[in-house]
Amino acid sequence: MNLGDNICFLKGVGDKRAKQLQRLEITTPLTLLQHYPRAYQDWQTHTTIAGAPIDTPCCVCATIDYAPVENCFRQGQSLFKTQATDSNGDKLGITIFNSAYAAKQLIEGQTYLFYGKISENFLMREMNSPQFLPPNEAKLHPVYPCTAGITSRQIETLVAAALPQVLGQITETLPEWVVKQYDLLTLQHAFVCIHQPKDQADINAARRRLAFDELFHLQLGLQKLRLGTQKQKAFAIQSEEINVFLRRLPFTPTNAQLRVTREAASDMQKQTPMHRLLQGDVGAGKTVVAAALLFATVQNGYQGAFLAPTEILARQHHHTLETLFGARIKPELLIGSTAAAEKKRIKSGLRTGSIPLVVGTHALLQDDVAFAKLALAVVDEQHRFGVRQRGNLERVNTQAASPHVLAMSATPIPRSLAMVIFGDLDISSLDELPPGRQPIETYVVQKSMRPRAYRYVAKHLDDGFQAYVVCPRVEDDTRSETASVKAFADELREHFLQGYSVGILHGKQSGKEKERVMRDFAAGTLQVLVATTVIEVGLDVPNAVIMVVENAEFFGLSQLHQLRGRVGRGAAKSTCILVSDSETQTSVDRLNLLRHNTDGFALAQADLETRGPGDFFGARQHGLPPFKMANLLTDTKLLEETKQAALLTLEARH
Ligand code: ADP
Ligand code: MG
Repeated sequence: MNLGDNICFLKGVGDKRAKQLQRLEITTPLTLLQHYPRAYQDWQTHTTIAGAPIDTPCCVCATIDYAPVENCFRQGQSLFKTQATDSNGDKLGITIFNSAYAAKQLIEGQTYLFYGKISENFLMREMNSPQFLPPNEAKLHPVYPCTAGITSRQIETLVAAALPQVLGQITETLPEWVVKQYDLLTLQHAFVCIHQPKDQADINAARRRLAFDELFHLQLGLQKLRLGTQKQKAFAIQSEEINVFLRRLPFTPTNAQLRVTREAASDMQKQTPMHRLLQGDVGAGKTVVAAALLFATVQNGYQGAFLAPTEILARQHHHTLETLFGARIKPELLIGSTAAAEKKRIKSGLRTGSIPLVVGTHALLQDDVAFAKLALAVVDEQHRFGVRQRGNLERVNTQAASPHVLAMSATPIPRSLAMVIFGDLDISSLDELPPGRQPIETYVVQKSMRPRAYRYVAKHLDDGFQAYVVCPRVEDDTRSETASVKAFADELREHFLQGYSVGILHGKQSGKEKERVMRDFAAGTLQVLVATTVIEVGLDVPNAVIMVVENAEFFGLSQLHQLRGRVGRGAAKSTCILVSDSETQTSVDRLNLLRHNTDGFALAQADLETRGPGDFFGARQHGLPPFKMANLLTDTKLLEETKQAALLTLEARH
C-alpha cells in the first residue's frame, strides 16, 4: 500500500467508511496520518473505585459481576445495568444506554478498563455509559476529531493498520541539520509518537516537530518573499512637501503624528519599497498621516492609492482628502457601485498616469486595474483585507517598481502574528490621542432601562448633537440583520425618539442610498443613524456623541471598542451605552471590562483570551495557511526558531 493510494485499499475500509472518512478530509493513508488527535485519554493510570475523583474523567480497572440486565424505560428506549468489582472489593454500578451491542461485550467474570466520569448516589458509585477496553489496552489513547458514523476508536484502529504499511515511505521534509540542531524528531518518528505515544513526552516532542514543520515552511516562503522585496525597486519620494501639507492643516498635528509621519517618510525616500504597519487606537488620527504621505507622493509626480474595506469608508476618505487637498490635488473614487463609464475613465487615467490619486475598495484590486507609476498604497483597516489581496496591490505597476505600502490598523496585533500576516514589516505606533478629547463615558444597562437611555439620547439631540444606534445582530444572516435595523428604526420613530429624524444604514443598501444617508448624517440633517456594524470601522462624524449598542453581548470587545470609537471624536463629552440583557456572568464581566478600559490593546488582549484568535482577526479571511498543529498565537518561540532556521537555509542556498 502506498501513501497516496485511495483509502479504500486499506483493510476495513469499504465504500461507506470511505465516504465518512472523506468528510474528515481523509482520502489516503497520508491524510489519515495527518489527521492528528485533538487530545489523549489516559488509560494508563487507573484509580481504585473508592479513590476515584467524582465527575472527572478517570480510568478504573474492575471485573464484571453479572451480564448486563436490560430495563425498558420508555418506548423503544432501553438501558442496561450491571456491576463491577475492583481488586479492593469495592463495587461500581455501570449503566449503558441504548446499546445492546455494547452491553453484550461485557462478559461476566471478565476484567475491563472503564473510562468515564463517576457519580455518587446514596447506594454506590456509578459510571454512566463508560468506554471500556481489555486490560492490555492500558495506555494513552488518542482522541480524534470524528464525524457521524465513525468513532475515534475506529480511526485509531485504521491508523494502527496503516502505520506499519506506509511508515517507511514517509520522507523527511526538513533539512537534516535542522532536525539535529533544533533537537527534533524525524518525521517518521513524529507520526508514530503523535498517534501512539508512550507518554506525555512523546506527545510533546511529536507536536513540536509537526508544528515546527508547518511554521518552517511558512517562514521559508515569507523569507523568500522578503529577500525578493529587498531586491525590488521603488520610487523614491522626497519629503519636503510633507511639511507644507502639515503646516496647512486646520489643527496642530500631535507629536505622535509627526513622529510616525517622519518614520514612514524616511522609508519612502529609499528606493526599496516600504512595508510599514501604522497601529493607532481608534480616533488617534491615522488618516492625516496617510494624507500627508499621499500628498508628498503626488507632489513628487507619482501616483497614490488609498484602499478602504467598505464603500462607506472609501467615500468618507475620498471626501476627507478632497477637503484637505483643496484645489491642489483631485482624488478619484473607485468602488463597486461606481458607474461603468466612470470606472472606465478612472481605470484608463490610472493606466496612463493622468489620475494621480485614487481612493477605493476591493474594486481597486481587480485584475484590470493598473497604474503607470504607483508609488504609495495606503491600506486602511488592514486587518479587513487578506494576505493575497495585499499581494495584488504590489503587482499593479506597469513599470518595474513596487509601491511603498502603509498598512493602518486600530486592532493591535502581537508582533509575531503581525510578522506572519503581513510578512516582515516595520511597525509605527500612534500612541497619543489628539488634544482636548474627553474620555468616553461607558454604561452597561439592561433592556428595561431603554426608556431612560433614549431620553438621554433625545436630550443630546435637542442640544444639537447626533447619535448612532447599532442594532441587534441576532445571527449572521444579513437579511435578518437588515430587517432588525428597519424594525428597530421604526420602533425608535414611534416610541423613544418620536419627532426626531432617524435614518438607517446597512450593507444591503445600494451605493447611492448609502451615500445619501451618510451625507445626510454628516451634514446633520439626520440626527440618528440606526445601523448594522457597517459603521464599525473608520467613520468620522465628530458631532455624533452618543453610541448605543443593542444586544451588546453579541459583539467582541475589540469590535465594541471600534464601535465606541465612532464617538468621542470632537471636543464634546461622549457617551457609549451598551444595552444587554445577558444573564451570564462572563458576558457581564466582559462588558464591564469595556466600561473601565479605554485602551484598545488591553481589550484586544482580553478578547484573545476569551474568544481565541479566530474571532480576533478572522484568520480564515486572511488567507493564512490552515495549520493542523501550529498555533500562531501561542507558538511564538517556534515562530522565532523557524524564522532563524529558514533564513539559515536560504543563506546556505545562495
Ligand atoms: P483613526 O485613527 O481612528 O482613523 P481619524 O484619522 O479618523 O482617526 O481621526 C479622528 C478625528 O480626529 C478626525 O476628525 C480628525 O480630523 C481628527 N484629528 C486628527 N488629528 C488631529 C489633531 N492632531 N488634532 C485635532 N484633531 C485631529
Ligand atoms: Mg480610521
